[in-house]
Amino acid sequence: GAPPAYIGRFAPSPTGALHFGSLVAAVGSYLRARSLRGRWLVRIEDLDPPREVPGAAEEQVETLAAFGLVPDAPVAYQSRSAALHQKALQQLLDSGAAYWCGCSRRDLPDDGIYPGTCRHGLPPGREPRSVRMRTDNAEIECFVDAVQGEYCDHPGRMGGDFIILRGDGLIAYQLAVVVDDAASAITEVVRGADLIDSTPRQLLVYRRLGLKPPDWMHLPIVTDDNGRKLSKSDDDDPVIARPRAEALRLALRALGHEPPAGARWLDTQMNWALANFDIARIPRGPVAVGVHPL
Ligand code: GLU
Repeated sequence: GAPPAYIGRFAPSPTGALHFGSLVAAVGSYLRARSLRGRWLVRIEDLDPPREVPGAAEEQVETLAAFGLVPDAPVAYQSRSAALHQKALQQLLDSGAAYWCGCSRRDLPDDGIYPGTCRHGLPPGREPRSVRMRTDNAEIECFVDAVQGEYCDHPGRMGGDFIILRGDGLIAYQLAVVVDDAASAITEVVRGADLIDSTPRQLLVYRRLGLKPPDWMHLPIVTDDNGRKLSKSDDDDPVIARPRAEALRLALRALGHEPPAGARWLDTQMNWALANFDIARIPRGPVAVGVHPL
């Protein structure tokens, strides 16, 4: 038959055990895809070996499965699309949308905004280290987020020309995520609102590569009861450590879809959330859901 219209995804970085904040993103993207009878994919973003924890990817996939979050295709690994990343990088260099940079972090001014030192060629005595995306201070990227509403920013004013190939030779997140979402024909990116300020830069990359950007839905940031953000890199709250039905209930609460108290089992809770799924219920956040560090 006709290919399904909606393709969503969850794209964790394998830097540790699945965290409560990632569970919220996983559940939110899953419910959204299922509610539209679309496909839901999982992609492990393993492009940063120095930050990777051995076994974390497999553990994350197992944890997702334990919550009933099983993707509609084999789990993808971003490291396997290196050829696509290189091709996109070359395309951006060839078109002049990106350029080689010989600066290191130490060369940046105190405000952290890259002043465009290598825009018109490497300064004498500099070796090419990284590749930067050319930005324009006047250029603004806007989108209408399904939860957060209209959002606009100038990629050029945020940090200046941004890195797409790092000095250590690794493809940067801002390029890889665009190439891989486009290659998987993702129609909507659903992820945590902690990433919303990356979206204007990613829109710029889509535009320069001549690719059609997806729709966007940024889910509320979850905080503990003191208003402190539950960060994905914290070790203090691995989802795996709490009873699953309790973790799922908290994730659904963060998403504005907490089932009635009588719904005790994972699938009862998930089915209730699916039957009642409505974007208008999702808070913009930040939300506190009664999570205490373990
Ligand atoms: N891998 C990123 C993270 O775990 C998320 C990427 C995305 O959803 O765009 O923070």
